[in-house]
Amino acid sequence: MSQTTIKRIPQRMCAICRSKDAKRGLTRIVRLPDGQVELDPTGKRSGRGAYLCDNPVCWERAVTSGALEKALRTPLDAEARARLRTAAPTT
Ligand SMILES: [Zn+2]
Repeated sequence: MSQTTIKRIPQRMCAICRSKDAKRGLTRIVRLPDGQVELDPTGKRSGRGAYLCDNPVCWERAVTSGALEKALRTPLDAEARARLRTAAPTT
């Protein structure tokens, strides 16, 4: 058997500061097929995902800068913003 099938390791990178961390600290945010943006702690929900690191600044910027909206290619509604604010890590 030739090794033509290469298992792709999903690359996890903070959508804001672009730091990479495969092991810890990155939380997946997912845009569900119905357009809802939710947190995905299990990393298993289907939909377009983006990761945020454990730096509270990144979470704040994700909500305020539009970078997360760009990463997910969808606008964040008030509910999604509130969810992110609630889930944001604290220092
Ligand atoms: Zn970050």
